[in-house]
This record gives sequence, structure tokens and C-alpha cells, in this order.
Amino acid sequence: MPQPEWADFDAPCLAVFLRRCQIASEIKLETYPVEQAEIGLIGLGVMGANLALNIAEKGNKIAVFNRTTEVTKKFYAEAGALQGQIIPCETMEDFIAAIRPPRPIIIMIKAGEPVDQQMEQLKPYLSAGDIMIDAGNANFRDTMRRFESLKDSDLTFIGMGVSGGEEGARHGPSIMVGGTEESWKRVEKVLTSISAKFHGEPCVAWLGENGAGHFVKTIHNGIEYADMQMIAEIYGILRDGLGLDAGAIGDVFGKWNTGRLNSYLIEISEKVLKAKDPISGKPMVDMIVDAAGQKGTGKWSVIEAQNMGVAATAIEAAVAGRILSSQKKEREAAETIFGLPEGVAAPKDGMAFLADLENALLAAKIGAYAQGFAVMAAASKEYNWNLPMPTIAKIWRDGCIIRSQFLDEITSAFTKDPDAANLIVTPAFSKMVKETDGALRRVVSYAVMAGLPVPALSSALSYFDAYRRSRGTANLIQAQRDFFGAHGFDRVDGADKHHGPWGSGLADFK
Ligand code: NDP
Repeated sequence: MPQPEWADFDAPCLAVFLRRCQIASEIKLETYPVEQAEIGLIGLGVMGANLALNIAEKGNKIAVFNRTTEVTKKFYAEAGALQGQIIPCETMEDFIAAIRPPRPIIIMIKAGEPVDQQMEQLKPYLSAGDIMIDAGNANFRDTMRRFESLKDSDLTFIGMGVSGGEEGARHGPSIMVGGTEESWKRVEKVLTSISAKFHGEPCVAWLGENGAGHFVKTIHNGIEYADMQMIAEIYGILRDGLGLDAGAIGDVFGKWNTGRLNSYLIEISEKVLKAKDPISGKPMVDMIVDAAGQKGTGKWSVIEAQNMGVAATAIEAAVAGRILSSQKKEREAAETIFGLPEGVAAPKDGMAFLADLENALLAAKIGAYAQGFAVMAAASKEYNWNLPMPTIAKIWRDGCIIRSQFLDEITSAFTKDPDAANLIVTPAFSKMVKETDGALRRVVSYAVMAGLPVPALSSALSYFDAYRRSRGTANLIQAQRDFFGAHGFDRVDGADKHHGPWGSGLADFK
């Protein structure tokens, strides 16, 4: 004889079921689901609510909980046709009992201390094999610590980077997973169902143990900072160098979006530049104070690049650019002291210069991505993650903020040559750099002469110039270090450490 659905429930589950019936009747539900949820989610803020709706929409039953119960009720009341897939819970007991063990529980709340607090609150309710998944923008060092803290317990932890903002969370984000392979297997199906798809390929992957997912998300954001800064610098040249208005610059970006620069960030730049302020009727972008905010992932990228001994100059320049932008009052005061440079005439052949700007942006972008991937390669070695570079490029092709055609080309380059020392030396990208570095040089030269700040574009160019030059100038630095600190140096005609004749050399200067 067929059993009723609730016959699968153990006693505590049945009690919870009855309590849920009570909650459901309070919010005037006609039917109420008894099947256990495939996954749970805590935190129904912007990201959590959208992620939960996405999970439900893809046919996965989900239990949700929020610190403030009113938020849970509102979320459920507004879930419309998806209500049948959602189990709203007011207490931790209900929430836990509503999820099929081993329970994967996404924590999508304010990053930092709240995550530790939430984990501590959860722990007493969990049982062997349950997985706490921090999906917020965590510092990977916190993720490593949390993962380690559970290592000797029978619970597990996943650090999961989610990119794509509100829209991505709702309709398909790019998801970067770090944790044990076993815990990944438990969540793979649900995460694959909700991720963005690039030509049918899911933009989600297990990238390695412990902090791998959050580290990769951090570098994603570092690259995002550089991408945005470079676009803003080109905008500055078009606005302050060539004198184009916002709409015309929007047209330029619109055209570029059909070419090799095709990307989400160029696409939204066109839209932003063409939008009008409903209050003044002027271009919206002209009414926005030029002081950029930041939440920390750019800074973390730079810190980790430095920790790893990897040059990530374009990302550093982008973070520094935001810092300088935020010093609005100081900049205003400085302008009254120094004024602005007189500028130089715009290049005569406007169309050729526009083509140079497009190619310059591409060349600089290659530098920034090369740096980001180099940081990840170093971290992969440092933490034994074995990060799969082609897969990382693959899952960034859609769903995330830096999604672009360009990432498909990076995927191909790393698939053909997964151990490439640097993206710019792969055959496809070295060809692209050779085609575009002249344009970057001309654009940076123009900007420098015109007094227009281009920190990210110029640092990408200098990075390339330093990287491709076999005989640099650090021989002088080594000599200086040996002079004042007896640090020694390698000779070009032998490998041993040597010291210079500084004592006697000094005498010559007296
Ligand atoms: P919101 O501010 O919209 O929501 C914050 C959520 O955190 C609320 O549900 C809030 O609950 C909960 N919360 C805050 N403090 C605590 C606490 N001490 N204990 C339990 N719950 C708490 O944030 P977002 O949804 O924008 O961001 C969530 C995470 O996602 C962050 O880590 C963020 O960096 C990351 N992220 C955000 C992106 C975005 O575009 N917004 C993109 C990618 C990642 P309550 O309702 O009770 O206040």
C-alpha cells in the first residue's frame, strides 16, 4: 500500500511538520510542502533572497531562514508561484529539520564576524556530514580558518564565491566552490542547476580545498577593479581629451561591444553613459560625484599578490585609483594650487585614435588578466590547491561581472597550454599583444602629455615592457643593496654570490 509522504519523516520531523502547518495557516497557505528540502539558506537579504528564488525556480526544494523573521515572512509572501518549492522557517529547529541530511546550508549574510556568529548558532543543531556554506564575500583567510576549525569535527565547510550581483543571483551567477570534493558532490546538482550557462556549459566548478573558491572570487574582483578602472580612464580621455559628451562616449562603447571588447562591463558602460538624470535631464553620469567606493576585495587581491610576490600592477593601480578618487576635497584643493595642464591637441585622425583607444583597452586588459591569473597560479602552489586555470576562465565566461567573449579566448589559451608561465606568452595572447601594444603606447603617451591620469593603463604597459625585457635595471638595485647592506649579488658570468669593491670604490669619491 502506498505510504503518505510524511511517513518518511522521523518523529522530530513530524513535530516540525505540524508546527510548519501552523505557520503556514498563519500566513494563509492552502497547501504546504512536506517533502524535505534539498538545501537550506540563511540570510534573505539582496543576494540570499535572489539566490533562494533561483534555487526554487530550478526545481530544488529549499528551506529558508532569516535572523529577522519578518523578512522571512515577506520573502515567502512575495515568492508567488515558487512558494511550493520554499519552506519558510522561523526557528532554527524547524529549519534544520526541514533539510534532507547531510544538510547543505548556504549562509548568505553580511561577511565577517556575523558569519562566525551564525556558524556558532548553527552548530548545536547540526549532525554528521552537514555542510555549512559561506556564500558571502569572505576573505579567504577567514575561510581557511573556518574550514580548519571544523577539520576534526564531523561537520564540513565550503567557502563559495558568488558573482553576478543581484541579477546574477536570481537568474544565474558564476559560482566558485572551495571545500572537500565529497562536500562538493553533495551540492553539485543544485549549484549546477542555478549557475549561469555559457553556450550550455555551467559556470560553476569545484576549484579545490578550503579557501580556493573565495581566493578565486577575490582575484575575480581584483581583475574587475582593473577592468573598471581602465574603462574609466578611456572614458576620461574621450571626455577630457577629445571633448565628447556622455552620449557620444556611450556610442563609442556600444560599437566596441560588438568587437573584441565585447563584455558585460562595456555593455553597461554604454547604458550608463546614455541614461538621463530624471531630475536635471542631464546625463546621469555627469551628476554622479567622482569618488568611488570599495568594500575590500580589490585591496585583498593586492595584499595577496604582494604576499605571494607577484606583480599585479594594474590591479594595484585600480585600487589606488579608487583611493585617490575618494579624496575629493584634497583633489579640489590641489587643483586650486596647480590648475590643470593646458593639454595637447587631440590627434588629427580621430577615427584612427578611436581605433587606438579600443586596442589600448584590449592590450591593457590582457595585462590585468595576466596578472590576476599569475596571482592565482602562485597561490595554487602556496596552498596546494591545484587551481584549474582553464576551468576558472570557463566559469567566468558568463554570470559574473567580468563576463566576456575575451574569457572564452583565455579558456582556449589555458586549455592548450595549462602550464603557461603567463597569459601574455601563450600563442593566442602574444599575437594579440603584438597587435595592440603600439596602440596602448600611443594612448598612454597622449594621456601623459595631456595631463590625464591613466594609472591602470600605464601600469599595464610598464608591466609588459618590464616583463618582455631580458636585460632590466635591477643590476643597479643589487649593487646598491650590496653597497649599504652587503646583500651580495649574482654575477652575469657566474652563479655564486659576490660582493662589489665598494670600499675602494668609495675612496675614489672622497
Ligand atoms: P544585505 O545587506 O542585503 O543582507 C544582509 C543579510 O545578512 C540579511 O539577511 C541580514 O539579516 C543578515 N545578517 C546581517 N548580520 C547578521 C548576523 N549578525 N547574523 C545573522 N544574519 C545577519 O547583503 P547582501 O545580500 O548584499 O550580501 C550578502 C553577502 O553577499 C555579503 O557577504 C556580500 O558581500 C556578498 N555579495 C554581495 C553581492 C551584491 O551584489 N550585493 C555580490 C556578491 C556577494 P537581517 O534581515 O536580520 O538584518
